[in-house]
Amino acid sequence: ATPTSVMVGTGRAAELGVLFRSGAALEGLQGTQVVALDKTGTLTLGRPALGEVRPQAPFTRAQVLTLVGAVEAGSEHPVARALVDTAAAEGLTLPVATDVQAVPGFGVEGVVDGRRVQVGAGRFMARLGIGTGALDHEAQALADAGHTPMFAAVDGQLAALVTAVDPVKPGTPEAVRALQAAGLQVVMVTGDDRRTAQAVARTLGIGEVRAEVLPEDKQRVVQELQSGGRRVAFVGDGINDAPALAQADVGVAIGTGTDVAAESADVILMSGDLRGVPTARALSRATLANIR
Ligand code: ADP
Ligand code: MG
Repeated sequence: ATPTSVMVGTGRAAELGVLFRSGAALEGLQGTQVVALDKTGTLTLGRPALGEVRPQAPFTRAQVLTLVGAVEAGSEHPVARALVDTAAAEGLTLPVATDVQAVPGFGVEGVVDGRRVQVGAGRFMARLGIGTGALDHEAQALADAGHTPMFAAVDGQLAALVTAVDPVKPGTPEAVRALQAAGLQVVMVTGDDRRTAQAVARTLGIGEVRAEVLPEDKQRVVQELQSGGRRVAFVGDGINDAPALAQADVGVAIGTGTDVAAESADVILMSGDLRGVPTARALSRATLANIR
């Protein structure tokens, strides 16, 4: 590539909110065969709303929202805000939780009014030895409808099923279609529940899903996709995504995202609109065509 054509390409990209952090990034994108997409915050808005609260007797909705909201007030996970906001909207006063600890990829726990409260994915409950059988059927039905199921336990006793719903971004369906039309293999990679991930993938026409991937394992999934010398682009927004972004042949950080994600990326999409990916790829091809 001549330096001038790369400059023209990166300049045009910048107008579209696509920042290539190097000439190599601009050149690399056209040669990719696989695009791996994080779900939360990349395909979806990343701002989940509360879905359903299904308390288990003797717990009431208000008790569940109070205990769970108190613990989530100390969490930075996207679902935390939905829970805290709902508790506030329902006029509940949240006590201050102590000993709050996030368990990345699993959930969060803390102590509220002397009671141990644990909230998280089904696998968090499994790890704690808390049975979810009474609510599993409901959880699966809601997950099949695209909700993220979470369970709450109080002093080791199952207290509720709580779900979150994170809508797909408006530009996502078109972006996925454009990538597939360009002949790329599109893969969803997410820490979310398998059924939830598959429900979202189904609505987008994405056939390949890697779900319930722990934060530290996203990089390994990218590595797997690279087997046989395939060139893989990874698109993600979060802190958890930094190792996967670095592992990918081309790492694409989307949206305002986090500084950590942006630092590990080769391409930054300022707008958060996934259509920036096919746009960036088209620019990459056009620039290289100009060079030749
Ligand atoms: P992702 O961001 O891809 O959904 P994470 O690894 O952050 O993946 O989380 C995986 C799952 O762990 C979530 O879908 C949720 O079920 C659970 N989880 C993590 N943190 C929390 C939290 N603070 N409150 C409730 N559930 C949580
Ligand atoms: Mg994400």
